[in-house]
Amino acid sequence: MAEKLIFEISQKGKKAYTMPCWDQNKAVDVDRKYLRTEKIGLAEVSEPEIVRHYVNMSTNNHHVDKGFYPLGSCTMKYNPKINEKLSSLDGFAEIHPYQPEETIQGVLKIYHDLAEMLCKISGFDKVSLQPVAGAHGEWTGLKVIRAYHESLGNPRKKIIIPDTAHGTNPASIVMAGYEVIELKSNSEGLVDIEELREKFDEDTAAFMITNPNTLGLFEKNVKKIAEIVHSKGGLLYMDGANFNALLGIVRPADLGFDVMHYNLHKTFSTPHGGGGPGSGPIGVVEKLGKFLPVPEVIEKNGKYYLDYDMPESIGKVHSFYGNFSIIVRAYIYMKVLGSDGLHKVSENAIINANYVKKMLEDTFDLPYKQNCMHEVVFSSENLAQYGIKTLDVAKRLLDFGIHAPTIYFPMLVHESMMIEPTETESKDTLDKFICVMKKIAEEARTNPELLKNAPTATPVRRLDEVLAAKNLDVRYEMK
Ligand SMILES: *Cc1c(COP(=O)(O)O)cnc(C)c1O
Repeated sequence: MAEKLIFEISQKGKKAYTMPCWDQNKAVDVDRKYLRTEKIGLAEVSEPEIVRHYVNMSTNNHHVDKGFYPLGSCTMKYNPKINEKLSSLDGFAEIHPYQPEETIQGVLKIYHDLAEMLCKISGFDKVSLQPVAGAHGEWTGLKVIRAYHESLGNPRKKIIIPDTAHGTNPASIVMAGYEVIELKSNSEGLVDIEELREKFDEDTAAFMITNPNTLGLFEKNVKKIAEIVHSKGGLLYMDGANFNALLGIVRPADLGFDVMHYNLHKTFSTPHGGGGPGSGPIGVVEKLGKFLPVPEVIEKNGKYYLDYDMPESIGKVHSFYGNFSIIVRAYIYMKVLGSDGLHKVSENAIINANYVKKMLEDTFDLPYKQNCMHEVVFSSENLAQYGIKTLDVAKRLLDFGIHAPTIYFPMLVHESMMIEPTETESKDTLDKFICVMKKIAEEARTNPELLKNAPTATPVRRLDEVLAAKNLDVRYEMK
């Protein structure tokens, strides 16, 4: 049942909590002209009505606290509630960015120690916590790459990406002033080494790849890739959005990467379904450290300082020091789990994805058969004979209280469905999901009209997505 607007529930004279009447004559410090004389027109409702209104609304949409959320590439893991509670403690939430350094020593220690932990887990020499999204990290990393090449006398012109790249990669490359060159993947869904060797010349600034890539596959030739890139004086960038598959298993710097971004909101647990806020720190090898954004938090004799003395820095990329509250959550998450716990995160993420892969490989097309990392890409091409598309499968999942996987990405797989279970889901949840997916595939054969009209059990039925995007109307029409 659709929830009414709170103004539609409102009835004149209803109250929730009432404060004692305020005696206007006692106002001494306020100029009377600033006092409001008219009512502000809030809804008039009782306390249980308010509570039920918002609780009901919170369940109209899908979220990770309500059900399984296998949205590939996004790592929609369950976020421990204690992170939320601790990150909103007064000492974190009530501070001001212009406060003197000596009054925020604990805060600076968190910046300093989180950067250190991120270095340790990735093998990089330095980390900047300033970028506030993965895409922002990409752009910052590319600016660092440009600054490095400029310092050698030639910024170069091009950056190469594989055809599996996330859409933010080419966008960041263009915004950093480079030309995008696309590389076709080989039949295994990996980088074609020979094509890379042919295309990577002395005018190419960097090769930018995601590892594991967006097909959920580990680039097993990454060391050879690094050799090719470095032999031409280029740099190797790692999109670290899929870092959830590597924690405590392999360090990107050891594989030959020079720069990477982390998506703290994905890998290190922050709720991120609604588009933000996020955090996209970058890690770099030693020779790139001096180009990172200012300021850097440094420690001297047990005291923490903001260091602005970085003459070759690319400058600031965000106001103040990034999204602090996301940084606190990541810090708590890593501290609570420790190195063994983080290793288990990745191990379980990989096991869960391979379990789903194995259990559904006879139900949907599986274009790449090798073991996957933390996510698996299927195709519903086998249902096309019944007139069913991946979109129909995704919509039908909502009727079973499960969020749709990422669909139609990566683009080189026709009718793709990218499933990322994450480590926080139990075998029971995965079994239920597998069972639902098999049922939907069966429905495609026996009752395709049902799928084409799905969802049927959600507050809003299938929307015209183009119209919805162009003509946003968040007000639900009461029928
Ligand atoms: C999510 C993602 C990004 C972009 O990260 P944002 O934090 O959403 O800006 C880049 N690459 C890949 C592979 C991703 O999954």
